[in-house]
Amino acid sequence: MSFQALLLTQVDGQTHAAIARLDDDQLPQDGDVLVAIDASTINYKDGLAITGRSPVVRKWPMVAGIDGAGTVVSSSHPRWKAGDKVILNGYGVGETHWGCLAQRARLKGDWLVALPDAFTTKQAMGIGTAGYTAMLSVLALERAGVRPDDGEVLVTGASGGVGTVAIAVLGKLGYRVVASTGKADEADFLKALGAAEVMDRAALSAPGKPLQKERWAAVVDAVGSHTLVNACAQVRYGGAVTACGLAQGMDFPASVAPFILRGVTLYGIDSVMAPMARREEAWRRLAEDLAPDRLAAITKEIGLGEAIEAGRRIVEGGMRGRVVVDVNR
Ligand code: NDP
Repeated sequence: MSFQALLLTQVDGQTHAAIARLDDDQLPQDGDVLVAIDASTINYKDGLAITGRSPVVRKWPMVAGIDGAGTVVSSSHPRWKAGDKVILNGYGVGETHWGCLAQRARLKGDWLVALPDAFTTKQAMGIGTAGYTAMLSVLALERAGVRPDDGEVLVTGASGGVGTVAIAVLGKLGYRVVASTGKADEADFLKALGAAEVMDRAALSAPGKPLQKERWAAVVDAVGSHTLVNACAQVRYGGAVTACGLAQGMDFPASVAPFILRGVTLYGIDSVMAPMARREEAWRRLAEDLAPDRLAAITKEIGLGEAIEAGRRIVEGGMRGRVVVDVNR
């Protein structure tokens, strides 16, 4: 059967992105579940792949799309049968294995999570890797023992995918959330999502002192670089910080002072190879702790033909919340 896909090719070191018509016969053979994709999404990493701005894609040509949700067409994997609704996040899909910005994908059954009853496939992609990573961050803070009455939680990169879902979840759980953003005009939107206060990200983005005034009980950081360093320097004694992103930069020009003098703990968050039990826990908790109206407020829907432009926009920092891609329009 033929289908549409966002195909990435490389010519003379340049990435080219185009909507192409492919056939089931061309799909990768190292997969045991054929999925009819309903929806995908544009994550920051998809933007990097589509624009070629970072070497995300490791095999050419590549179908883009690190996330997908849809219905199993056929399966030789014991956990899945035709008709099952499934979600795929990461595992190198869209990087080394053909991805889900396509109407069809052949995937490994070991990579798939059952779609929670609480979500449609489009809602699951409204969450996507960014939202599931936000929940992995919240779970890490909970395991660190952080509780709502411990004090304020800082969320950086607040208007982005990880940030908006983190704010919505933490707000619903009763935390007092402070949202750090570069978009002053999104303050009302971030408060409606669950932030108690909004601050200008410029206050965190320049080099600062190794130890600063203690403020945060915890931090969910999606930005890295000086922002993460300053956030760590402002965490209260015994607090916790999660690091998942590099929107400001991959560098971490820090001092050990917050860790050795204030007992601050820094948790690394990886969504790509996260173990299945943790993925399932994250999706279960998203079904409980992400209010549908908040998810709707952060989500915008586009068609497959608009995905290339959306990929360009997200790497320029111009996206608010999350974008669902209906691959069938
Ligand atoms: P988005 O682009 O949706 O959000 C990133 C946000 O960071 C922007 O909206 C902006 O928010 C802020 N930002 C952008 N540029 C800068 C800058 N120069 N300095 C400070 N802040 C900046 O991306 P996602 O939320 O989807 O992803 C966030 C990060 O997390 C990315 O780096 C992504 O690669 C990473 N990630 C990592 C995962 C993992 O497994 N570890 C999984 C998912 C994402 P505002 O305008 O509000 O300040």
